[in-house]
Amino acid sequence: MNIDAGPDDEAFEDERERVDRPMARLFAEYGRDDAGYFAVGLVSSVLSRVLDLLPPLLLAVAIDAIFNPGMGFRLWLVPDAWLPQSQADQLWLTAGLIAATFAFAAGFHYTRNWGWNRFAQGVQHRIRTDTYDKMQRLNMDYFTDRQTGELMSVLSNDVNRLERFLNDGINSASRLVVMVLGIAGILLLLNWQLALIALLPVPLIAVFTRKFIEIIQPKYAAVRSSVGTLNSRLENNLGGIQVIKTSTTEPYESERVEDVSEEYYDANWDAIRTRITFFPGLRLLSGLGFVVTFLVGGLWVLEGRVTEGQFVAFIFYTQRFIWPMAQFGQIINMYQRAYASAERVFGLMDTPNRIAEDESAGELVVEDGHVEYDEVSFGYDDETVLEDVSVEVDGGETLALVGPTGAGKSTAVKLLLRLYEVDSGAIRVDGTDVRDVTVSSLRDAVGYVSQETFLFYGTVRDNIAYGLPDADDEAIRAAAEAAEAHQFVTNLPDGYDTMVGERGVKLSGGQRQRLAIARAILRDPEILVLDEATSDVDTETEMLIQRSLDRLTADRTTLVIAHRLSTVKDADGIVVLEDGRVAERGTHEELLAADGLYANLWAVQAGEIDDLPREFVERAARRRARTDADD
Ligand code: ADP
Repeated sequence: MNIDAGPDDEAFEDERERVDRPMARLFAEYGRDDAGYFAVGLVSSVLSRVLDLLPPLLLAVAIDAIFNPGMGFRLWLVPDAWLPQSQADQLWLTAGLIAATFAFAAGFHYTRNWGWNRFAQGVQHRIRTDTYDKMQRLNMDYFTDRQTGELMSVLSNDVNRLERFLNDGINSASRLVVMVLGIAGILLLLNWQLALIALLPVPLIAVFTRKFIEIIQPKYAAVRSSVGTLNSRLENNLGGIQVIKTSTTEPYESERVEDVSEEYYDANWDAIRTRITFFPGLRLLSGLGFVVTFLVGGLWVLEGRVTEGQFVAFIFYTQRFIWPMAQFGQIINMYQRAYASAERVFGLMDTPNRIAEDESAGELVVEDGHVEYDEVSFGYDDETVLEDVSVEVDGGETLALVGPTGAGKSTAVKLLLRLYEVDSGAIRVDGTDVRDVTVSSLRDAVGYVSQETFLFYGTVRDNIAYGLPDADDEAIRAAAEAAEAHQFVTNLPDGYDTMVGERGVKLSGGQRQRLAIARAILRDPEILVLDEATSDVDTETEMLIQRSLDRLTADRTTLVIAHRLSTVKDADGIVVLEDGRVAERGTHEELLAADGLYANLWAVQAGEIDDLPREFVERAARRRARTDADD
């Protein structure tokens, strides 16, 4: 028996959203398809519990049949004419009935578990896949605002908890009801005076259990909160282990971990102390009740007011009473936890998706690949990040976006990909507003190669052909060759079958980038967004990457976010963003001649001057001050 709110991972307990009647929705939206299993579970539960109740009763009958000739069955309201005459026959009959009860009970036990498990499995499967689907479709801000652990917790802990509740919870609840009502009914029928005495501890147990729940719940909440803090701390520290090592803060971090671990220890011990006091207390209470029933029942047998069989039945049933009563708390607890989980799941399901697709949205068909930003303004929250940005790039040409960090370059390309939606203005591809086409056709047409190349756990081949399951080996190899990746891939232990990504072979930054470029070449999008790498690679690798990029961008509309200006000097056009606005535009030569921000950035990168002239630095400082003030 475990009345346990379980100190499992509920770090995000308090972040659940308020949702209307989540449990009703759980059954209505996800239980409906498996209503048949539910019915089988419920009916079998009740029947199997009823049958579980019968053997002591039949045993009592048998005892009376032996010791009180003629009493056994008559007592049970069965007409005389139906009864076998000899005591031996009565015994046979009883034995047969008990055997039948066991057989049927076994059958119903099976169908009960079958029904509940199928029901719970079906529901958890649908919820998990639906929740994941929904999560994938949510806006990027949903992910930047939350920790991965929090999202994982919904997909795993919350869904698992709902499954447990649907399986065990209703099953236990039905047992509780049948056992308590059934036993009370049988006892009252057998001998109502003795029944009243035997049932005396029940209200006491109910009060005692209630009190226990009241006391234990805040303690469990404390345990959950401390385990949440502990997990976050550990996760954070392991993620930042390199910083800890290089800052030699190990002793400090050890101490911090020790502190939160100690908090967890204290909270847990506090809860355990209460729990381990409760169960012996419950036993004592029910034991005392049992002794009183035993004593009074025994005396009444001596007086002839109660038969031996009835007495035995009372002894058995009072014993069986206690655990279902004690489980009452566990069931309430399970329900509350499932309720909170359902709230979190439905809270997520109800999160509106701001990148809403219009019913009438068509597929994007790219002809030239002309891209236009028309007076685009955008802010993540209230703060404006892009203001009235108008930029154009002709089909097949390359436009470089440059500017200081935080100027809004990445934001601008995220808007093209509709990871976020413009606040005002419009972005058009070949004259079509990107909001008028389906997101998937847009993203198929616009390839994105970022400086943080993410590799999925899988083979090199899988990673190059990611999203293109039909790509054949030849095409994959050709793409790798064009991306200058073929050479190093063939040198890997298993060539294209080498496992990479998390847990796989570690690749260098330059190698990862070339795989990403191969991926883009294979996808062959009409428009390309390139978030140029800043990572330090050696000159040779840089040359390889540059060569593969040249192949990738040739004759393809390309927007490149450039950090090193040397790589964009040949771009067809350059736009300089400063603080969310277009500060300058032109070709490399034109911008140098203009002697503005670009010319100065160029001079800094070329080592001609140490820092940007004062006017730019001051402007940046003013901007920072403004941003800080906004915060
Ligand atoms: P750049 O690519 O030029 O370095 P970004 O487009 O990344 O600039 O950022 C522009 C501004 O928007 C910065 O002030 C940055 O802090 C802010 N910003 C970027 N991403 C987010 C986000 N997800 N939520 C809120 N603010 C953001």
